[in-house]
Amino acid sequence: MTNKKITIAIDGFSSCGKSTLAKELANELNYIFIDSGAMYRGVTLFALRNNLISNTDVDREGIIDKLADVNLEFKANKNDAPSLLLNGENVADEIRTPIVSSFVSKIAEIKEVRTKLVGEQQKMGNKGGIIMDGRDIGTVVFPSADLKLFITADVDIRTERRFKELIARGFETTRDAVRENLIKRDHIDSNREESPLTKAETAIEIDNTQLSREEQLQKALDLVEEIIIQQRKIFMI
Ligand code: C5P
Repeated sequence: MTNKKITIAIDGFSSCGKSTLAKELANELNYIFIDSGAMYRGVTLFALRNNLISNTDVDREGIIDKLADVNLEFKANKNDAPSLLLNGENVADEIRTPIVSSFVSKIAEIKEVRTKLVGEQQKMGNKGGIIMDGRDIGTVVFPSADLKLFITADVDIRTERRFKELIARGFETTRDAVRENLIKRDHIDSNREESPLTKAETAIEIDNTQLSREEQLQKALDLVEEIIIQQRKIFMI
């Protein structure tokens, strides 16, 4: 029998509940959960703080020049998603602000940013037992992941979920602003030159528009169990 921990890649559009599913799966399976989007948000926050973003302009060259000064780590939290540390400072809340959301997809288009972050993500996952969510996890970061999920949901449902989350955290926003940000990010993420968001060939799609969190988690757990049973059979041949 093999007790090998598998690698799970979760990709999909903005605010589909990927991180929620990844976190719950990680708790159930006792795996490590990495939210790769937090890392792109961390670089965006660094760029904002260093005046490398002004109004609508992103200083690509300036960001590339300073990339070596960006140190990103995750600090584990019991029963919750790990917090992102930017050069040692816990920025878990600040990376979720609307200003970061409005620029992050522009920063994620920069090839050098992706090369740095993908390299760090691959190092984090080299021992298995990891669940990573993002946009290019099944296609670029872990193309050999044992299980690849592609999560989708209706844009109205996604808007409503994100809007409620932002309001609960004390941000002033409107449904229209949230919806516009989601649609814009999805467009940039799906059409950029570097590692655009696409469904990996072997990914299993879960549309959670009509699913409760529990139902979605159970679906994913069933798929994990199937993979583990398959791998045990192969191991015994
Ligand atoms: O997952 P989250 O919505 O926090 O991601 C923020 C942004 O980071 C995405 O809209 C996308 O532009 C970028 N991203 C990416 N590749 C990933 C994860 C996130 O390009 N693997």
